[in-house]
Amino acid sequence: MNRSLEAMELSNRYGARNYEPLPIVIAKAEGVWVEDPEGHRYLDMLSAYSALNHGHRHPRIVRALKEQADRVTLTSRAFHNEALGRFYEKLAAYTGKDKLLVMNTGAEAVETALKAVRRWAYRVKGVPADQAEVIVCEGNFHGRTIAITSFSSAEEYRDGFGPFTPGFKIVPYGDLAALEAAVTPNTAALLIEPIQGEAGIIVPPDGYLAAASRLCAERGVLFVADEIQTGFGRTGRRFACDWEGVAPDVLILGKALGGGVMPISAVAAGEEVLGVFEPGSHGSTFGGNPLACAVASAALDVLEEERLIERSERLGARLMAGLREIRSPYVREVRGRGLFVGVELDREARPFCERLMGMGLLCKETHANTIRLAPPLIVTEAELEWALERIEAALAAD
Ligand code: PLP
Repeated sequence: MNRSLEAMELSNRYGARNYEPLPIVIAKAEGVWVEDPEGHRYLDMLSAYSALNHGHRHPRIVRALKEQADRVTLTSRAFHNEALGRFYEKLAAYTGKDKLLVMNTGAEAVETALKAVRRWAYRVKGVPADQAEVIVCEGNFHGRTIAITSFSSAEEYRDGFGPFTPGFKIVPYGDLAALEAAVTPNTAALLIEPIQGEAGIIVPPDGYLAAASRLCAERGVLFVADEIQTGFGRTGRRFACDWEGVAPDVLILGKALGGGVMPISAVAAGEEVLGVFEPGSHGSTFGGNPLACAVASAALDVLEEERLIERSERLGARLMAGLREIRSPYVREVRGRGLFVGVELDREARPFCERLMGMGLLCKETHANTIRLAPPLIVTEAELEWALERIEAALAAD
């Protein structure tokens, strides 16, 4: 048995079957390229669901990791550490928000934002106790906890996990009239992905985000943007909301914040919202650990210094133009922004992802029929051309 087969056999034997990975083992990675134990190389066009915007093992980020690891890695929030404050200062400048709360995973940051907006509703807006409502969108994906699963519209995410958390209303994505009709005096917030990732890279109609944000402001509802997958340059802007000039009341961040090296997530908002937490009301043992904070600070520096956001916009336009030129009987639509692209097919996308894997290109289907293409933002134009040749071959008629 070779090393790849052994690794897959062990994880299949002992692991719960909550994922169905493509049959490839990644043993080494650098930049946009990964390698299996047998030495086959692949171009990574998934970027760990957009957590690897900086590419694998960016030298500057790995250096920050090592330097911090040689000093102190974990303090808990029972004590202060130097890396947290430095990271907060950088993230406040990056987001334009003056209060932050750091956690570890995306789902935890979403839960944190939900707790914040509920408390805000009771303490600031004056909603009667336990009546706060949060509006979410059909097709949403915000994570996997029980509360988040409670407002998912996908049956496979919910089946067998009830009873669910009340207090959520689902409206169709991109439908302003439906949103307006759903708002009541008890509405605390709209929680929304500015582009729906897991639903298949769904870009809302032009003007929808701006109109939704105006509606929220008029009706005293917080506009909460989940930019966990779309943030940090993925769509060719700092945040996907920037495409419509929208400044959300609350930003939820994760994935690429950790530079592809450490899990770290955060909620960014104003004092009015995050001021609702007092000591003891929320927390996390690892949230704000110096190792993750040092890594995230370096990751924010790299985004700016290497102008990765501009790069994402320019190369994303090239990728989408190239994909639209491909003549294939299977392609229904090519859509996206920046290097966040979905190719929707008229059939299951998985066999095409497997075919692409055989050609040295890694990507993954999302929502059965869509191939998600989201390479690290450091990808070169030549590498994209290489990828386009393979995608064209994979999508050719049988
Ligand atoms: N929110 C969005 C928009 C996501 O895409 C994801 C993950 O894919 C999450 C939240 C959950 O993040 P995590 O898997 O780190 O909990």
